[in-house]
Amino acid sequence: MTTKRFWVGTGWKMNKTFAEAEAYARILQSCDFSPFSNLNIFIVPPFTVLARVADMVKDTPVMVGAQNVHWENSGAYTGEISAPMVRDTGATIAEIGHSERRALFGETDDTVRMKVNAALAAGLRPLVCLGDTAAERDAGASAEAAVRQLKIAFRDVAPERIGHCIVAYEPVWAIGTGGTPATPDQIDDVHRAVRGALVGRYDDAGRDVPVLYGGSVDLSVARSLVPIASVDGLFVGRAAWTAEGLIRIATTFAEMRASLS
Ligand code: PEP
Repeated sequence: MTTKRFWVGTGWKMNKTFAEAEAYARILQSCDFSPFSNLNIFIVPPFTVLARVADMVKDTPVMVGAQNVHWENSGAYTGEISAPMVRDTGATIAEIGHSERRALFGETDDTVRMKVNAALAAGLRPLVCLGDTAAERDAGASAEAAVRQLKIAFRDVAPERIGHCIVAYEPVWAIGTGGTPATPDQIDDVHRAVRGALVGRYDDAGRDVPVLYGGSVDLSVARSLVPIASVDGLFVGRAAWTAEGLIRIATTFAEMRASLS
């Protein structure tokens, strides 16, 4: 039995009304996660329901994250939400640099870096998304693209803080309805390169940073990634937009991983 902990979570994107979010959280409240001691489970709802969901799951092992934070703590930034404001909701994770934010909302490697710093300063765990485009993949530059994003995102992060960070490798071409999941070999290559960069910069502290895979994960993709040791968990979209979907994927992955010797 391995005691290593694995992370499985989902981002809800721009989905769920208050009532839908409450219904999801109620199912999590009634789930017994105690047999899955190796599982860190998290959900990343939209801002409108963050405080409510964080409150509803506060007595469960489920962690809650925001989908974005601004890099300043307060000020004239209409429409933005700061890291201290997120912390105030009871959320503990800040998703930063999702490829939709990079592609549609002008986020750059450098704004990702500033947001990572803001999240850490506010006591949040940054969940930093990295991903290659199809053109980068076709040029054989998937790992290089992910490592470049990683190095800039963590440029200012000191060794004593890297343990608070989480990384998700999410190939742009694997995400969403038009996406196809990366193969275990493709994922392993990039995850090893990401781990190499983390260890190169942070030595042992870099070994403990969870590196998750995301991009069209469903139950069968989750099962296929169980033997891939470089995968420390899963960041799931559509397949976990029902609480049952999240619970099934998370508990299957945790159970199958725990049974590996
Ligand atoms: C995502 O957008 O982060 C994601 C993983 O989505 P999906 O699983 O739906 O491809």
